[in-house]
Amino acid sequence: MEVKTSLLDNMIGVGDMVLLEPLNEDSFINNLKKRFDHNEVYTYIGSVVISINPYRSLPIYTPEKVEEYRNRNFYELSPHIFALSDEAYRSLRDQDKDQCILITGESGAGKTEASKLVMSYVAAVCGKGAEVNQVKEQLLQSNPVLEAFGNAKTVRNDNSSRFGKYMDIEFDFKGDPLGGVISNYLLEKSRVVKQPRGERNFHIFYQILSGASEDFLCKCCPCNAMQIVGFMDHETQSVFEVVAAVLKLGNIEFKPESRVNELKEICELTGIDQSVLERAFSFRTVEAKQEKVSTTLNVAQAYYARDALAKNLYSRLFSWLVTRINESIKVLKKVMGVLDIYGFEIFEDNSFEQFIINYCNEKLQQIFIELTLKEEQEEYIREGIEWTHIEYFNNAIICDLIENNQTGILAMLDEECLRPGTVTDDTFLEKLNQVCATHQHFESRMSKCSRFLNDTSLPHSCFRIQHYAGKVMYQVEGFVDKNNDLLYRDLSQAMWKANHSLIKALFPEGNPAKINLKRPPTAGSQFKASVATLMKNLQTKNPNYIRCIKPNDKKAAHIFNDALVCHQIRYLGLLENVRVRRAGYAFRQAYEPCLERYKMLCKQTWPHWRGPARAGVEVLFNELEIPEEEFSFGRSKIFIRNPRTLFKLEDLRKQR
Ligand code: ATP
Ligand code: MG
Repeated sequence: MEVKTSLLDNMIGVGDMVLLEPLNEDSFINNLKKRFDHNEVYTYIGSVVISINPYRSLPIYTPEKVEEYRNRNFYELSPHIFALSDEAYRSLRDQDKDQCILITGESGAGKTEASKLVMSYVAAVCGKGAEVNQVKEQLLQSNPVLEAFGNAKTVRNDNSSRFGKYMDIEFDFKGDPLGGVISNYLLEKSRVVKQPRGERNFHIFYQILSGASEDFLCKCCPCNAMQIVGFMDHETQSVFEVVAAVLKLGNIEFKPESRVNELKEICELTGIDQSVLERAFSFRTVEAKQEKVSTTLNVAQAYYARDALAKNLYSRLFSWLVTRINESIKVLKKVMGVLDIYGFEIFEDNSFEQFIINYCNEKLQQIFIELTLKEEQEEYIREGIEWTHIEYFNNAIICDLIENNQTGILAMLDEECLRPGTVTDDTFLEKLNQVCATHQHFESRMSKCSRFLNDTSLPHSCFRIQHYAGKVMYQVEGFVDKNNDLLYRDLSQAMWKANHSLIKALFPEGNPAKINLKRPPTAGSQFKASVATLMKNLQTKNPNYIRCIKPNDKKAAHIFNDALVCHQIRYLGLLENVRVRRAGYAFRQAYEPCLERYKMLCKQTWPHWRGPARAGVEVLFNELEIPEEEFSFGRSKIFIRNPRTLFKLEDLRKQR
């Protein structure tokens, strides 16, 4: 009997790495390369989609393609991100299983584009009608709004996400979209006041400046999107006033003779009393118990205060935007989550921001391991199926180095930030040395007993972490300050006093009636807590993986750099992924739904099988003469070794 599926026929290379013969790193890369050269940028490992950034627009996302993949089985057509999107959407609609789509890969690998493709596919196939269309438009248009405010040009990527985003799309029982909820993770706000060489500030600043000569509100590109998402005109206006104020803050100079200049425009724009702001840039008030002590700021402190205010104003505006979008799109039912975070980063100078970003990527890799590799092996054990153990690197040890409550780097940074006395980045590094010196994934030269005493490539002011994706050297300079995220109270009070309802709302702690002497949580601990919530959320859903790969460092089409791809394949653990998949079974299904689906193929089971489902499946497979080595009976599920067997069953069904 002939099995026709495009996954096996007319295929460039193999579409599913599980079918690759022989399997090794070279054959893996060659297969990817061959497919890439023929514009096949998607390849499967079982149900995981590998995506290689083509860096040019391919004609594979058309409405016709959407129709082609709509309601088709995952393995039926050639690999595509639409197949994964369709599978996830149909499981959500028909089986009530909440889904999440986890998109990983380094900066520039194509995560954000992938997340938009998933969203636009789902929008194209779900529901109809004016009301549903409005919901879809709002969901889709939240992307350009957040990209304008949260993305920037970096060395790695002209449109690099500088925040993490997780979006739950919510559906009703029919599978029509109702709305969504977005969570954002730590915006890289230091970019507001300082950008690495060759990089730019957030897109919105340039968009505002390019339109500033005329009526910038009309020209500015996210405006239209903001309107669709549901912002009122006065809200959009307020948002741009805040952005303009942040821009102007950057121009303020503090000179010994004339303290401050250029405050006037900011105050006009934001309704802040000029004398109040001037005072806030000149003095710092510290309240201890009943006493208030004011000290004059020196020029350096005034600049520090200015930058802290610019960063805070902008990052709070960003969080407000997310909350505001959520108000427009919120309701709750079945959900599909799409996670698109900043990718793993290794720069020449890596600071607190990279540390946080890379920590987040460690956690995602961890959840991939938990859910795919470990879960797969554990399932075999649970189901009583024979199994040979496969070694893979578990990065839990690196997560622990960073997040352990007592000895983790974040905990020590917090301890240092909260300790009375003189705290500097160096005292923090010293502390790290005491606690982490012997950790396998930690390297530094400061402590006398260090294994790395003679490693001159590691400066004294740095520590290095051996991440799952490679070694990264972090400059400690700025860690303490960025974690503290200090904004002098005088400034938050000045902001709260502004005659501008948005700005006032961004600084609730400036309300004198709500003075709180307790320190706000540090940036690191806030991030850790929000990542923990995210991981919990993801674990309740059925995961779908897109693993993005960057083919070259030039942001260019047609170039496939073997070494670069090889590195990514290694750290993403893709080969282990194939091995685990192959050592086992490509497909598994509980006995009941399996019998339900295929009972029509066998006289003895059709139309009713009286007896346990497992026995029914046995009879069925026996009659269809499926070779014994092709399947195994687990405690609750049937395991099918090769996708071909599944295709055969599907084809037989279609012929009926
Ligand atoms: P970061 O971690 O920096 O946010 P990222 O993984 O989100 O990176 P993207 O912004 O999605 O990367 O992709 C970088 C660029 O690559 C895009 O701006 C686009 O030019 C190109 N690109 C990515 N995916 C595709 C695709 N499927 N088709 C065509 N071009 C693509
Ligand atoms: Mg991105």
